[in-house]
Amino acid sequence: MKTEGKRQKKLTRSGGVQSHPVSAFCLQPSALSLGSNLGDRLENLTLARGKVAALPQTREVAFSSVYETEPVDAPEGSPNFFNAVMLIETSLSPLELLRATQAIENEFGRVRSVPNAPRTLDIDILFYGDVLMNTPELTLPHPRAHLRRFVMEPLAEVCKSLNLQIPKFPNP
Ligand code: AMP
Repeated sequence: MKTEGKRQKKLTRSGGVQSHPVSAFCLQPSALSLGSNLGDRLENLTLARGKVAALPQTREVAFSSVYETEPVDAPEGSPNFFNAVMLIETSLSPLELLRATQAIENEFGRVRSVPNAPRTLDIDILFYGDVLMNTPELTLPHPRAHLRRFVMEPLAEVCKSLNLQIPKFPNP
């Protein structure tokens, strides 16, 4: 699979799989991509991870290593990103999960200016179980995830650690 994105390096190790078996919630895992290129990037990801794990009816299944990546399609001079992928089990609905992750982005003071501007925190829903949806607010699986190396590399890492197949993303 061809992905966009230049050099990226692994900064932290994932710390392995969490102790909960994937099947314990009887739910299919969902995946989030977390990114930050403003402020204390590692702290932003770490705090965001805790906030996602603390959402109601939600728990963390796995968290990837943190990768430092060069920005893709971003304004000139944008700082490098720190990126990671988090697998969760949740019984929030897809839209509830989107609103909850947007509320977390807002807590980090994210300002939406020009597209792909530097941001303290960006959370995308990569997939939600095997749900397919295409509404103005939410597209699942994420339509551009499979094009982005900063998504696919950490996603492959967590899926491999859990013996899960990487889900198929529709071609653009
Ligand atoms: P941004 O956070 O600026 O990258 O853009 C998020 C926008 O994309 C929001 O308006 C969401 O409603 C929309 N969106 C559509 N699909 C998704 C998805 N799978 N995950 C996160 N945001 C999504």
